[in-house]
Amino acid sequence: MKLFSFKTKEQMVHIGIELDGLKYDFTRIWDMFKDIQGKHRFPDLYFMQVMVELGLFNYDDINEVISTVRKLRSLDDLKIQGQIQFDVPVARPQKIICLGRNYQKHAAEFNKPVPKEPIIFAKMTSSLIPQEGTIILPRNVGRVDHEGELALVISKTGKNIAESKAYEYVAGYTIMNDVTARAMQIQDIENKMPWTRTKSFDTFGPIGPAIVPTKLISNPHQLDITVKVNGETRQHANTSQMIFKIPELIQYISRHMTLSPGDIIATGTPEGVSELHSGDVVTVVIDPIGMLENNVVAE
Ligand code: MG
Repeated sequence: MKLFSFKTKEQMVHIGIELDGLKYDFTRIWDMFKDIQGKHRFPDLYFMQVMVELGLFNYDDINEVISTVRKLRSLDDLKIQGQIQFDVPVARPQKIICLGRNYQKHAAEFNKPVPKEPIIFAKMTSSLIPQEGTIILPRNVGRVDHEGELALVISKTGKNIAESKAYEYVAGYTIMNDVTARAMQIQDIENKMPWTRTKSFDTFGPIGPAIVPTKLISNPHQLDITVKVNGETRQHANTSQMIFKIPELIQYISRHMTLSPGDIIATGTPEGVSELHSGDVVTVVIDPIGMLENNVVAE
């Protein structure tokens, strides 16, 4: 089970669901569920952000919706037909928090020490683009790199979250490409400037296409992550190699700021980051979450 956002033929944003490899319009399934239940006080669901905020983004609830409708009718006419136009899964998160140097070999490839505590930074939400969206290389910034990462979506509001409770605050997992203006970043670090601008150019936040509910990923620290550029492998690692693991990250971040439903945490990139060029196609694969693919053009 995976959930994603897509645009209908009428260019409306709907929520989609993939079940056994087939994709359905979950927004319409939800409408039927409401009719069956007589729960007209429930809101319509067009945006994943709303679904997460209502606490409905969890495997058991989604499963109940599907099986309730399936008992009364076939879902065949709710299959999404033709080419899918994906949208960003969570389009308006309050914040995107990223991890710097959370893989030892990635720190080493820039001759940086392994951090003693997590290095967190913000990526602006205006950088987000969906599956098959175009990464635009800005003029006059030099080298721009891909950074394939496991990302998680926060399920509910939390402050000072204990490590032992951390996964209760995770709605699900997705894929992010933390695109980085590398030449500018190296210069900014030398000048003791923050990373914000080099991480937040428009289109530097490819994400998705789908979110997999937390319950379906029994161990998020046992996932292969592979980045290919034009079919050639550039990054290949396993999330077991993360220095600071997810419970520690949630505990650490929530000590400093309140986490809110829909917030994204990108858990850092492994070694093998490399430069993107106009005309490239970059894919990030994390099995079983999916494949995030974007093309690259110069401004
Ligand atoms: Mg990164």
